[in-house]
Amino acid sequence: MVNIDMSKDFTQNIPQEATKLKKLSKVTARYMQMDEFKDSDHHTGYFCYNCVYFMKPNHCAIVTDEGPDVYDKSSGEIAPYGICALWEPNKEEMR
Ligand code: SF4
Repeated sequence: MVNIDMSKDFTQNIPQEATKLKKLSKVTARYMQMDEFKDSDHHTGYFCYNCVYFMKPNHCAIVTDEGPDVYDKSSGEIAPYGICALWEPNKEEMR
């Protein structure tokens, strides 16, 4: 687990350039975007949407938007219906 303050004020105050330097690539994090779950309820199951690191609507605090995922697809975002090896439950979003 990465020790990072996830309060909204904190993440919003980090300049994008600074956070980019610290973020992991999608492949390193084993990120995969599961388009087949695009229309699922993202409050239930393992999805970026209910991960503590997810930044609505389509970013992650610790994984970059850019670059290919494990399927070699570059979507340019962290989708709510993605998942990676660093997933940690966000109890406020889980049902
Ligand atoms: S599962 Fe969590 S840590 Fe991994 S990419 Fe999605 S939001 Fe980021």
